[in-house]
Amino acid sequence: MPFDPSKWKPKFSPSVATTFIPCPSCEKFELEAGELKSGQTRDSWLANDEPESPLEYMSRFVLLLKCKSCKETVAVAGLMHAVEEMYEGQEETVSVETLIPRMIEPPPKLFPIPKATPTEVTDVVNQAFRLYWFDRDACASRLRTAVELFLTKEGIADKRTNGAWENMSVRLSEYEAKEPSIGKKLQAVKWLGHTGTHRPGGVNLESINDALVIISAALEERYEHRKANELADEIIAKKGPRSPVAISKIGPHEST
Ligand SMILES: [Zn+2]
Repeated sequence: MPFDPSKWKPKFSPSVATTFIPCPSCEKFELEAGELKSGQTRDSWLANDEPESPLEYMSRFVLLLKCKSCKETVAVAGLMHAVEEMYEGQEETVSVETLIPRMIEPPPKLFPIPKATPTEVTDVVNQAFRLYWFDRDACASRLRTAVELFLTKEGIADKRTNGAWENMSVRLSEYEAKEPSIGKKLQAVKWLGHTGTHRPGGVNLESINDALVIISAALEERYEHRKANELADEIIAKKGPRSPVAISKIGPHEST
């Protein structure tokens, strides 16, 4: 299942945190929020006419989430924007808080990485999941590293015959000639990673979401669809199961 940006919120009210963040360990939506702790930032304090009881302010927050299912503990931290609002018929103001997380540890999986993905690629994509929350440039750069490792696992040499490192564009072109659909997607991730590496602040939310949508689709195409195609080819070639069971073994208990 490719990455779905609409499921992930860069800003959210404290009450909805557990509705869209799955447990990073068991991946179930079983997280329960603990107490939210926050303190006003220095800049917000200095900028307010009434720093002790401001009407609008920025804080830093920490929030612990606990998984009811597997007992994992998740730490969320970042900035909190708060506005004091007065509602009709009420005598006291109500604080409307918006959390802007900069860290979720351990990071939730932004998309399911196919099981057949090589460990080297999976590890780097998991690092990108951590970076997603606090450094989009670095996140895109890490996805570009995942593309490089992917190419190596696909047998595209990373060094020339003279021992010098091969240019990534050359490697991608070589791969794209064999696998045009996946190769094109990896080219796009490379360009976004290039921006993240060389232009500080160049990767905004839309761009990092694009990179995740594309790389998740490429991994799925390579490690799930192709596997399904290969299995189908084998079954069609054999006109039946890939590993036929000897007729004499078939019985009520072996038929699974
Ligand atoms: Zn869990």
